[in-house]
Amino acid sequence: MQGDALYPCFVRADLSFDHGEGAWLTASDGRRYLDCATGIAVTALGHSHPRLVDAVVRQARKLWHVSNAFRIPEQEHLARRLCDESFADRVFFNNSGAEALETAIKTARRYHFVNGRPERWRLVTFEGGFHGRTLATIAAGGQPKYLEGFGAPIDGFDLVPFGDLEALAAACGPETAGVLIEPIQGESGVRAVPAEILARIRDLCNRKGLLLILDEVQTGIGRTGHLFAYQATEVEPDILASAKGLGNGFPVAACLATEAAAAGMTPGTHGSTFGGNPLAMVVASEVLDVILEPGFLEQVRSNGERLRSGLDALTAEFPDLFDDTRGEGLLLGLKCRQPVRDVAQAARDNGLLTVVAGNEVLRILPPLTITNVEVDEAVVRLRQAAMSLTNAVRSQALEGEA
Ligand SMILES: *Cc1c(COP(=O)(O)O)cnc(C)c1O
Repeated sequence: MQGDALYPCFVRADLSFDHGEGAWLTASDGRRYLDCATGIAVTALGHSHPRLVDAVVRQARKLWHVSNAFRIPEQEHLARRLCDESFADRVFFNNSGAEALETAIKTARRYHFVNGRPERWRLVTFEGGFHGRTLATIAAGGQPKYLEGFGAPIDGFDLVPFGDLEALAAACGPETAGVLIEPIQGESGVRAVPAEILARIRDLCNRKGLLLILDEVQTGIGRTGHLFAYQATEVEPDILASAKGLGNGFPVAACLATEAAAAGMTPGTHGSTFGGNPLAMVVASEVLDVILEPGFLEQVRSNGERLRSGLDALTAEFPDLFDDTRGEGLLLGLKCRQPVRDVAQAARDNGLLTVVAGNEVLRILPPLTITNVEVDEAVVRLRQAAMSLTNAVRSQALEGEA
C-alpha cells in the first residue's frame, strides 16, 4: 500500500493531484475539480498564479536563505508593508500558523515581564478555538481530542465558553496577560464573534491592562473581504497572528504587534532559523501586492455575497440537508443536517472540493480570485451533490418501507 511509510495521522481522501490553474485542480487520473478547499484557505490567489510563479522563480535563481544573523532587505520590506496596512508597528516572521501563535503568546508574556508584572502570563481563550498543533497551541485551543495522550496540557491558558463575556471577565485574574481569540472560529465550524462582543472584549482588555491577541491565521490576507477581518470592525488588536493565505502555499507566517506590545522582544528573546528567509518574503510580498490592488478586496466581498446567496438558495431548497449559511467574504460554511463527511464526499464526486469543519459544517473556501462564473459553477455542483444525497436518502427510505 502506497503511503504506508507515513504517519497515519491524516484522514485523507483517496485522491491526488497533478497540477492546478486558478480555481481548478487536475487529479492524477485527469479528472478536473473546482477547488473550494484551497488547501484549507491557503491558495488564496489560486494555483500557478503567473505573478507568484515569476516571483518564486526569480528569487530562486538569486538567493534562498541566509539566516537572521544578517539583515534581510526583503524581510524589512514586507514587514513595513504589513505595518503600513494594519495596526502594527513590528513584525516577526515564522513558517506556520502555530509558530506565529507561539510568537504571539511569548510576546504577550514578555510585555508584562518587562513592564514589571511578571506574574501576568496567562491567556484567556475560547472553547471551540483552534490555534495549531504545537504543545502550547493545543493547550490554548483546549480541545480534548487534540490534547489526549500528550500529557498534562501546557499551563497558562484559561478557557471560557465561546463569546461568554461574563465568564471572560470572571476568568481575568491577577495572572492574566491577555485574551486570545479568532474573529471567526474556522476549524470548529465558521463561528463569527459578533462585532459588539469583540468591542466589549477590547474594552475589558483596556480597563484591565490586558493585551488583545487575534488569531487571524485563517481569516486574514483578504479571506473575509478585508486584509484582516478586524478591519471590518472598530476593534484593533495589540498582537495578531497571520499565516495561511500569506504565502499562497509557500510556508510563511507572521506575528504582528504594536510597538508597545512588542517591547519585551529584545535581542536574544526569540528566534527562527527559516523564518523570514528571502524566498518566503518575496512570495508573500507578491501575494500582498496582488491582494492590495485597487478593487481586489471589493471583488472578494461581491463574490462572497454572490456565493452566499447561492448557498442560501440551496439551504432553502434542501431543508433536510442544510441548516444555515454562515461566515464572511469567501470564508463560508454550510451547516449540514446529515453527516458532513458524506456531503463533502458527494461534492467531490461532483467535481467540487470543500473542507469539513467540526462535525457538521462544510466549509466553502474558494480562491479569492474566483470569477463569478466559477462561483455559480460551485453552486451548481453543490446542488448536484445535494440532489444525489437526497435521492440516496429517499431510496434508502423506500427500501426500509418495502
Ligand atoms: C490553521 C490554523 C492555525 C494553525 O496553522 P498551522 O500553519 O497549521 O500551524 C492556527 N489558527 C487558526 C485559526 C488556523 O486556522
